[in-house]
This record gives sequence, C-alpha cells and structure tokens, in this order.
Amino acid sequence: MRAIRYDHAVDHYLADLPDPEPAPGEVRIAVRATGVCGTDVHLHEGEFGPVYPLTPGHEVVGEVVELGDGVTGLRTGQTVAVDNMVPCGACDNCQRAQPAFCRTLRAFGVTAPGGFAQFMVAPATRCHPVDDLDLDTAVLAEPLSCAIHGLDVLGPQAGADVLLLGAGPTGLILTQVLRSGGAGRLTVAASTEFKLELARGYGADETVRVRLTPDAESVAQLRKAAPDGYDVVIDATGSIDAMGHAVGLLRNGGTMLVYGMAGEQQQLPISPYEIFRRELTITGSFARSYGFDRAVRMLRTGRVRADGFVTHRFGLDGYGEAIRTVVHDSSCLKAVVEP
Ligand SMILES: [Zn+2]
Ligand SMILES: [Zn+2]
Repeated sequence: MRAIRYDHAVDHYLADLPDPEPAPGEVRIAVRATGVCGTDVHLHEGEFGPVYPLTPGHEVVGEVVELGDGVTGLRTGQTVAVDNMVPCGACDNCQRAQPAFCRTLRAFGVTAPGGFAQFMVAPATRCHPVDDLDLDTAVLAEPLSCAIHGLDVLGPQAGADVLLLGAGPTGLILTQVLRSGGAGRLTVAASTEFKLELARGYGADETVRVRLTPDAESVAQLRKAAPDGYDVVIDATGSIDAMGHAVGLLRNGGTMLVYGMAGEQQQLPISPYEIFRRELTITGSFARSYGFDRAVRMLRTGRVRADGFVTHRFGLDGYGEAIRTVVHDSSCLKAVVEP
C-alpha cells in the first residue's frame, strides 16, 4: 500500500509498504477520508510526541475490508469513524478514568500508524459505524469528540455568557456544541470574515472581527459586548497573544478554558492576585476521554453540521501541499486527504 512516512521531523515521503494485517480483535480499514488538523502540523514539526517511523493521520473514516479473528459487531463493507486513542485500561490513570493520560497510550497517527495511507488497522472496539453519514460529516467525529471533552471539562452553567476566541474548524465545532449545550449567549471572535459568517450560520449570537494579534481596539470591542465580563472565555486559537486577554475579559467567578494548543515553551504572565480576588478558574482540555459515541450522535442528529467545512481536498501525493495549505492559506477551513 501507499502511505505517508516520516523517519524524523519535517521530511516525509510516499512509501510503498506491506498492507497491514489485522491482529485478533482488529479490522483492516480502507481509508476514505482523513482530516488534516493543527495537530498534524505540530507533528510535522516534530512536536506532540511522534514515534518514528510515523504515518500520521488521526481523523480517519474508512471502509472495513477485513475482520481479524474474534471480531463481532462489525462487517466488511461498513463505513466507520475511527477513535484513534487506544488506552490500556489497566494503568493507574486509566483506572482513574483519565484514559488520555494512559501510561502506554497508543494513538493512531501519533504513536502508531494512522490514516494518511491506503489502509490502516484498528481494534474493532474503536470503530464506530457511520454508514448513514456522508464522509465530510463523519470525518468530524474525532475533532468533535475532543470538543465534547472540552465541554465535559468546562461543565458550563446553562445560560452562561460565553466568548469563544477562534473560528477555525475547532472553533466552529465548539460553536455548535456550545449552542446546543446551553450557552445563554455565544460571542465568537476571529480575524477572518468568512469564518465568522459560518459561525453566525452555526448559531453564534454575536461575532466580532479582531486582529490575529488582538490589539487594544479589538479588546475594547470584546469588552463592550460584556462590560462586566464573560462567564466563560474559551481559547481555540492556541495563540498566547489571544489568551493573554482572556483573563481580563472574565466576569468575577468566571472560567477560562485553554483549548487551543500553544507552543510547548511559551509562557503567559497571569496575575495570581486577580485569580484570588476575583475567584477565577483556569482549566485545560486535552484530547478526550469518553465522547466518541456522543460525537457520532451529534453528527447523526445534525446538532453539529459539516456544511461549509471541507474547503480543500488532496490525494496522498498532495499531503505536503495539504500541510502547507493548512498553515498558509487563509481560505482553508478544513483540508482532507482522500487516499
Ligand atoms: Zn485533529
Ligand atoms: Zn492506561
């Protein structure tokens, strides 16, 4: 089969590899669509713990083409969305219901072969049938399950006044989850008009166009919409320039959720006095724990929609171009590779 391979960061090539064989309990999947996301860009740069040789791709939808021994509940020809995280279930963190911190976590596309390939294998138990969904919708199952984890962590009060920074694929998924998850008012701030337009279509009550690096004018605009501050500010940009303003935009007793991924070495000055005096909470959401089945349900009921998401499509041989597009092309919302 053909598959993208990295032997170290940055350099990648289209390799000719043996078709992977499903072990007992696993299935072989012919990959139909794999989403390209910001995490793939970090992996490309060698961040986020890649294990080499690596075939990335963790937002995978494909067709089951072979069942390993002992597989029940799936049949060949079925289309599935793959939950790429396989925790051991036995270590201390798994037993504390924190599978994302599993000591021996296998993550397809990060520490094990992923979906930028013609075929991959995965445990049948991590494959969720999505025959009734179109591919562009099904490919959102993985990022949506992460957004659901974000809300699990946040536990927002019904009616909360929420500010969401960022309207990329993640921001627009969060927009829809917050909208149906009980936000009383949702304000989305981003720098690109077409993304804000999508945000309004997905249920944002207010949108504010701010600079990529929010300046005093941008912040004043956000403050004007909520003079006493927001109950919740979510950063879905990963930019510390944006995050630096989040604490100041919180209402007393408010919560900031760090959802976007900043650089590993970046630091943010925050006033402990302000956290103390105003009883603020700062929390983070990494990957997911239990939410993949809920993600598929929200796609199935149309609570989360995919129309307008996929703006760019590539074959396996266009993978390098796909990474460049995600980084540099502001007209790109979601790119998918269709092997
Ligand atoms: Zn992703
Ligand atoms: Zn574990």
